[in-house]
Amino acid sequence: MPRYEFRCRTCDDTFEVDRPMARSGEPASCPDGHDDTVKLLSAVAVGGTAAGAPAPSGGGGGGCCGGGRCG
Ligand SMILES: [Zn+2]
Repeated sequence: MPRYEFRCRTCDDTFEVDRPMARSGEPASCPDGHDDTVKLLSAVAVGGTAAGAPAPSGGGGGGCCGGGRCG
């Protein structure tokens, strides 16, 4: 099932929702229950260099979640 990323404009948080592709256009409520959310482009579909994003590879640059130990 594809995963879609949303951003809540109320608490400025991002969250992911797993839903069928047929329902990809439906709005989603953030974990805090806010309805003012926007759907972001899937990070999976983005390849190559992303402007403004830290390099995903290069040998441990102090990024969070790099080693699966975040949280
Ligand atoms: Zn929210």
